[in-house]
Amino acid sequence: MNREDNIIKGKSIADAIGEELKLDSAQFFQKTAMKPKLSVVIVGDDPAALFYVRMIEKSCQKVNFDFEKHALSGQTTEEQLLDLLDQLNKDRAVHGIIVQTPLPKPINEDKIREALSPAKDVDCFNPVNMGKLAMGNPDFLPCTPDAVFEILKREKIEVEGKHVVIVGRSSVVGKPLALILLLKIPNANATVTICHSRTKDLASFTRKGDIVVAAAGSIRLIKGEMIKEGTIVIDVGTNEEEGKLVGDVDFEEVSPLASKITPVPGGVGPITNMMLMKNTLLAAERQLLR
Ligand code: NAD
Repeated sequence: MNREDNIIKGKSIADAIGEELKLDSAQFFQKTAMKPKLSVVIVGDDPAALFYVRMIEKSCQKVNFDFEKHALSGQTTEEQLLDLLDQLNKDRAVHGIIVQTPLPKPINEDKIREALSPAKDVDCFNPVNMGKLAMGNPDFLPCTPDAVFEILKREKIEVEGKHVVIVGRSSVVGKPLALILLLKIPNANATVTICHSRTKDLASFTRKGDIVVAAAGSIRLIKGEMIKEGTIVIDVGTNEEEGKLVGDVDFEEVSPLASKITPVPGGVGPITNMMLMKNTLLAAERQLLR
């Protein structure tokens, strides 16, 4: 069955957000004579991390933000990284900071998280910001789960009172997404179930979801038989298979059943970086205009 009409076009959504942010950035410049500035710190030469940093740079160019990269050698010590973060935290020209993970083993990631100024923590990396989200009063929403939230909003998918089943409990995607969808704000107020690698009979949960979000990092984990007809399916998974990007959802089997579905690539991915840009602007506005 040809169901092209139910495919959510992540790239178009990201482009629309980019155009809005470009206008917001111009207004910010008019008021402050500054552009929002994002500083990215990367330690070592992990290819996936380097690729991601290039994508962030492109996104900054797209929306007319300043971008700065601090590429440190894999031999960098924890103390040196903490020193750099201290400088960036104090630098009034830097509004948002991202520390790219994974960090080399000798560096204690928790210490780095805690050292990042919560006011500049545009991907909700610091436990203070995650704690605020857990308390229902967030300053920033972490970018990938926020991209899922944005898709649900822009596609006008009713979330309030709906049963959202999230597959994956990581602290970057699954868990914060559950916290966002539980917020007492418009477009949230969902009933949320989180499944994970120890969940018994995963299909018995996914079949009950009005909205199913796959964030497991497991190729084609979600099969047609695991989804009821009319489900909204959001695939966060980005896995490599024979040089191609594939999701956690078996798209061939699931798309004929889903009322809406995100593809991989071209679904959640392009929107994630735009959420980072949105948070950078928000941080800049809070630092300069409030
Ligand atoms: P992770 O490995 O930290 O967590 C995966 C979670 O899935 C774990 O909680 C695990 O318990 C669960 N899981 C794994 N296999 C399972 C199974 N068979 N059944 C049920 N649960 C299972 O991964 P992550 O960082 O949360 O990322 C998840 C996926 O999302 C990955 O493919 C990652 O590449 C992708 N991702 C995409 C974006 C984006 O912008 N599109 C951003 C971040 C992560």
